[in-house]
Amino acid sequence: MKLPNLNWVNQDSPYLQQYREGFRLLSFSGEMEDTFNRYHIAVVLVRMRWALLVALLLMLLFVVLDALSLPEAVRNQTLAIRLGLMSPMLLFCWLATYNRALRPHLQLIGGATSLAEGLGVAGIIWVARQHEFPLPYEGIILITVFFYFLTGLRFVTAALCGWLTFFAYLLVEVLSGLPGEVLLYNAVFLGSANLIGCFGCYFLEYATRQNFLAQGLLQDLAEKDFLTGLLNRRAFSERAERSWRQAQREEQPIALVMMDVDYFKRYNDHYGHAAGDAALRAVAEVIGRYARRPLDSTARYGGEEFVGLWYGLAEADILPILETLRCEIEALGLVHTQSDVAPVVTLSIGLAWLVPQTHQSLEDGLRLADVALYLAKEQGRNRVVSKRGANRQP
Ligand code: GH3
Ligand code: MG
Ligand code: MG
Repeated sequence: MKLPNLNWVNQDSPYLQQYREGFRLLSFSGEMEDTFNRYHIAVVLVRMRWALLVALLLMLLFVVLDALSLPEAVRNQTLAIRLGLMSPMLLFCWLATYNRALRPHLQLIGGATSLAEGLGVAGIIWVARQHEFPLPYEGIILITVFFYFLTGLRFVTAALCGWLTFFAYLLVEVLSGLPGEVLLYNAVFLGSANLIGCFGCYFLEYATRQNFLAQGLLQDLAEKDFLTGLLNRRAFSERAERSWRQAQREEQPIALVMMDVDYFKRYNDHYGHAAGDAALRAVAEVIGRYARRPLDSTARYGGEEFVGLWYGLAEADILPILETLRCEIEALGLVHTQSDVAPVVTLSIGLAWLVPQTHQSLEDGLRLADVALYLAKEQGRNRVVSKRGANRQP
């Protein structure tokens, strides 16, 4: 898959790090593997559903076929396996695809189902051999192909089911005394089906993982600021609009915050652009830690300006948070001999606190935060200044 120019993706992007690390062993590190699991289930869910439904219908077809054509002794035991084990497992797995709570366990359920089908077919062959009924063994190849390509099983699960079924089949034939040369042929055919399945399934999962990373990289490219890894202005606006509308509906307060590094031009001029970049990254890292709830967000607004939105907090609650943030930036201790306000890099913070009214837009709120920031600069920098939104009286 052709990926975008990765130099423009934030270099701390977990997707980028994983992409560079590689994933030949079909595993991502840490949290990313959990995220991938959810993505993978979403990708294969429909395929899995249809495959299971078709398998269930085919199973019923075989039940009819068995009932009509097998001699009685073989028929009863065969039907017991089909109706007592194989069909119920398929049905349960099919129903599980519709149950949200079971979705995270679908690989396990799918794996158990596949194994039950494989062992079930091996069991049917065993029953036929016991009664010297010449049942063709190809059913086991059919089921193997099903494991690898249709059930949406991941490589490891599918391979485990495939090879366990292979060995179960060999055991059945050895115990039933199948002639050596026939057994060898059958084993080679079934082994080949497993090998083909393993290759196919490996590359299928590899491609799914590649798509997952590509999607993550594209999203980071579109939404994250290249230098700091915070949201960019566009992504912030999108999220802030959502929170703003929700606050309007629920009459909840919003804290809109503009932040600007003090005397940053002098910092750049004195320490150089690279040091300036490093300082911005350090400041952004702190700011990013302050918005953790789903409706809160922080972003790089541009240059050395940052913006934040906190949802549903009273003014008396957000002010100490911003004060702590300001102190934490100071405590980074980024030496700034050219600053008039402190010997280190500092941040001026303007807060607009308001319950958004129907006639107010997000831009109105941001303008107010900008005014508060301007006042913070005017009043001496390295401080938090708050302005309340004027709410229209009914
Ligand atoms: P004030 O305290 O009034 O905010 O003064 P200031 O010098 O911080 O403000 P001004 O807007 O004059 O300067 C902002 C500077 O930020 C200009 C530019 O050198 C620097 N800057 C903007 N973006 C970047 C960046 O991505 N990297 C680096 N290193 N510097 C940047
Ligand atoms: Mg500025
Ligand atoms: Mg500045």
